[in-house]
Amino acid sequence: MSNITITKTSELKKKYEDANKLVFGEMYTDYIFTMRYLPEKGWHDAQIKPYENISLNPASLVFHYGQEIFEGMKAYLSPNGEPLLFRPDENFKRMSSSAERLKMPKLDEKLALEGLCELLKLEKDWIPALEGTSLYIRPTMIAVDPYLGLKPSQEYLFFIIMSPVGAYYATGFNPVKIYVETKYVRAVPGGTGNVKAGGNYAASLLASSAAKDKGYSQVLWLDGIERKYIEEVGAMNIFFRFNDAVVTPELSGSILPGITRKSIIQLLKDDGYSVEERHISIQEVFDRAKKGELLEAFGTGTAAVVSPVGILNWNDEVIEINENKTGELTLKMFKHLTGIQTGQIDDKYGWSLKI
Ligand SMILES: *Cc1c(COP(=O)(O)O)cnc(C)c1O
Repeated sequence: MSNITITKTSELKKKYEDANKLVFGEMYTDYIFTMRYLPEKGWHDAQIKPYENISLNPASLVFHYGQEIFEGMKAYLSPNGEPLLFRPDENFKRMSSSAERLKMPKLDEKLALEGLCELLKLEKDWIPALEGTSLYIRPTMIAVDPYLGLKPSQEYLFFIIMSPVGAYYATGFNPVKIYVETKYVRAVPGGTGNVKAGGNYAASLLASSAAKDKGYSQVLWLDGIERKYIEEVGAMNIFFRFNDAVVTPELSGSILPGITRKSIIQLLKDDGYSVEERHISIQEVFDRAKKGELLEAFGTGTAAVVSPVGILNWNDEVIEINENKTGELTLKMFKHLTGIQTGQIDDKYGWSLKI
């Protein structure tokens, strides 16, 4: 049996009325899961309690040196109304490797998953049922020692909060416009680009808001040394279809190893596509687009699942991919993966975990 203490509340929040009107990340469920870490005790004090503010000493290390990591995952409702998680073991495994990179303790992955499952059982009614909607899950780990010197914390807080989200494609499955960033970079070899650390995202905001000002929805990041090779698009991995070969940047150390990326590679191979994980230069993409060989491009990540790319701007040279329409393979991959995630398509790899 579990050693998670559960404190219930009799005052449940008022839930959303129309799941289609939910804005990402604005509403939180009734409960939070927390646990603490100390070197002599390991992970302990696992609790589910009513959602509340966290009180911390202002000197806590997380506020000063950014020792913070997180994950992003989703729960969906199956056609029979059971909560489904998509490859949650992969998220907690990745969180442990993020922790190692930031000199934080490895997660107790089993306890974290147990905490999440218990939390979901309690909050099942928060999972929206409409097509495309889900319950977004945010596991987080922060350094809480009050100390102004630079050192790794001894004590850590891990928590999971959840937020119902509407359909990502409420206005249709439309391609996005992407600005190729040539000045700023997201990550460098030897840095923290391959882990989900909060600091990476703080450092990306300036470039993405400049791209938005120019009318683009995200930036495409190039490598940190030569500004030549493609890394990622916003907080998604990226795929290009050249005729019948699909190419995605190889995991070089500065690219986040997406679980959606890994799953899509598997589905593409199953469908008989040749998938190349390799260096791919922005020059190659533009050259082959002009020769008519670039048929489709799409990003992958938990939030959007699969997001078609319609326009790329590189130093003010603009290419349109598939006439700025969603490509057939992009749509097929989106339907296949969301079908597995929502329990509507045969899940031969056992990716979906029923709670
Ligand atoms: C989270 C994330 C992704 C996508 O990872 P998934 O596991 O597919 O959600 C890709 N790139 C970055 C930078 C990310 O933060």
